[in-house]
Amino acid sequence: MKICDILNKQEKGVSFEFFPPKGEKGKPALAQTIKVLKEYHPLYVSMTYGAGGTTQARTLEAVKMLIEEGNLEVMPHLTCIGAKADTVRLLLEGYEKQGLENIMALRGDLSQGTDNFDSSQRDFSYAIDLVSIIKNYGRFSIGVAVYPEGHIETHSLELDMEYTKRKIDAGADFAVTQMFFDNSFYYSFMERIKKNKIDIPILPGILPLTDVEKIKQFAAVCRATIPARIREKMEGLRDNPDEMEKVGIDFTIQQCIDLIAHGFKKLHFFTLNKPKIITAILDALP
Ligand code: FAD
Repeated sequence: MKICDILNKQEKGVSFEFFPPKGEKGKPALAQTIKVLKEYHPLYVSMTYGAGGTTQARTLEAVKMLIEEGNLEVMPHLTCIGAKADTVRLLLEGYEKQGLENIMALRGDLSQGTDNFDSSQRDFSYAIDLVSIIKNYGRFSIGVAVYPEGHIETHSLELDMEYTKRKIDAGADFAVTQMFFDNSFYYSFMERIKKNKIDIPILPGILPLTDVEKIKQFAAVCRATIPARIREKMEGLRDNPDEMEKVGIDFTIQQCIDLIAHGFKKLHFFTLNKPKIITAILDALP
């Protein structure tokens, strides 16, 4: 089923994002994560895709694991920077043959060491180029990424919104936000979305705030503000990782409760393939 139809039909629910295991050793952990989280009847599940094609094969394998689990609406992510249009078409054909109906269309980031990438050889510059190809292909519902605090490369929220609108108008059916830890960014982003007459479903992307040092690194490259109060509290627990995790989980539970209270009842979780943390959060939600 198309995810846009699921999101338009269901009043509430959760979706889960996984990443492909780095090697054989990670496979049982992913299988276990899927099994545990499946019990929460997700609206859909998605699998990330490495930029520059680094984990392309692993993504395909991990997507297969999700499909074989059965009874899950599965969405592969696909990045286009550095990709060739022919390769993308082949991938789409492959996914169509597997019965998939949804693709998350992303630009991705050039991996380190590819700074000299010859831009004249590019088939894609931005996610909008991939959205257009998938739209023309005709079979898939298309998801895109959006940024409550603005994408890291942007100098202005207005310009970022302009590009976001163009990308959605090119054929995106729904969107998922970058992680954020201060809901006010999401609420004002949704106001800007409304003002710009964008009316596709936009799921808030939730990354459980557990290991503050790791998340500070993610947040710095993704432009996501960690509120000073929680950051300082967690930094004070560096020597007590269990307590830090507990404080972080409680923070994320409160974040989700606040979103639900504001009427945002469909939440997307970046699971980091860690089911225990996600279930601790979900079990505490109304
Ligand atoms: P775009 O929409 O192309 O935007 C990128 C930048 O270009 C923005 O600053 C935008 O304002 C600007 N821009 C857009 N159009 C133009 C234009 N015409 N002229 C000038 N500037 C323009 N990465 C992965 O590698 N694999 C994944 O699986 C993955 N999954 C993700 C899932 C989610 C929910 C999110 C939020 C991000 C994900 N990412 C993933 C990260 C994503 O690839 C990066 O954030 C990337 O830097 C931008 O991707 P995009 O699709 O948003 O790009």
